[in-house]
Amino acid sequence: MPQVSEPTPHPGVLKITPYVGGESCIPGVEGAAKLSANENPLGPSQRAVAAYAAAAGSLHSYPDSHATALRRALGRRYHLDPDRIICGCGSGDILSLLGHAYARPGDEIIYSQHGFLLYALITHSVGATPVVASESDLDLRTSVNGVLARITPRTRIVYIANPNNPTGTYLPACEMARLQKKLPPSVLLVIDAAYAEYVGNKDYTAGIELVESSANVVMTRTFSKFYGLAALRLGWAYGPPAVIESLNRIRGPFNVSTPAQAAGIAALEDTDYTTLTSFHNERWRSWVTAQLRALNLVLTESVTNFILTRFPKKSDYNSRAADSYLRRSGLIARRMESYHLPQWLRISIGRDSDMHLLVDSLTKFIKKKDAA
Ligand SMILES: *Cc1c(COP(=O)(O)O)cnc(C)c1O
Repeated sequence: MPQVSEPTPHPGVLKITPYVGGESCIPGVEGAAKLSANENPLGPSQRAVAAYAAAAGSLHSYPDSHATALRRALGRRYHLDPDRIICGCGSGDILSLLGHAYARPGDEIIYSQHGFLLYALITHSVGATPVVASESDLDLRTSVNGVLARITPRTRIVYIANPNNPTGTYLPACEMARLQKKLPPSVLLVIDAAYAEYVGNKDYTAGIELVESSANVVMTRTFSKFYGLAALRLGWAYGPPAVIESLNRIRGPFNVSTPAQAAGIAALEDTDYTTLTSFHNERWRSWVTAQLRALNLVLTESVTNFILTRFPKKSDYNSRAADSYLRRSGLIARRMESYHLPQWLRISIGRDSDMHLLVDSLTKFIKKKDAA
């Protein structure tokens, strides 16, 4: 054995590019709008906030390790068996637990070319080998054939965000079913449905029936986006009993805090608020999409609470210039270099005033350059 002079993490750890969250302020600019993290611009439900505050009286007690009341509330809300639900410290926690339970060094984990960055991070953290499935078309959509082409005897997990972040695009239920059907039964299909609540398209489903009709599909969900509770760190998964049991073995015994459990239940029950959130998002997503297309900007077909828009390559018009211009207007978008989409910016749906400001600023940005 060679002499090692210091504790050394396994090689996968050193391959990780740390995840960088969306920026939340611009130096020298007061009250900038954070359109970089797909948060709910309306904030959380006030009933959730009240439940959170009420939990302040019991901070000395450990939380319910099984999140029993929350799992029951999820079961009622989504018509699911609470025994097949696990809750976590954000859905990121659960996505990571899945990696740790089902893959190890030498195994392969597949995700899509422009899939959510967390999957690469998880793959390396378990020491597994990342396998990237190409997206065939120009529409920035996960390709089922692309995924199937990368299956090998060493494949253990396929992670698919549906709809996907940062592209905003989705696969219809029939495509997800086709993927599941063609996967070897030993491969776990993880459907990350973080944005499911935003999708109104009739041919979309979050994956519940696929979980119920197969033994190798898990669906993960979050309270961070639609429910506006990103700071609380609350997510959940619905899966086959055997998968849920495995995750329960390796999760932290108190991975969901009492205030998070209480706020989650209240958020699920506040349907007036969720209706408002849906309405707000749909209204502004369609308006902004139409306005930006009228400026000849290219957008993906987003079904989520953010849009992904492409800027020309020419330096005066490019995404970098647009980002700087927006920042000067007090708007923080998300640059996409880390997703290998350098021409694009991802912009979350914000408050009414943010959306007017966004369209005004981009109109000036494009027109000013046109005139020059
Ligand atoms: C935001 C997001 C999540 C949610 O992460 P949390 O840990 O629940 O906050 C999961 N998947 C995707 C694709 C996301 O964009």
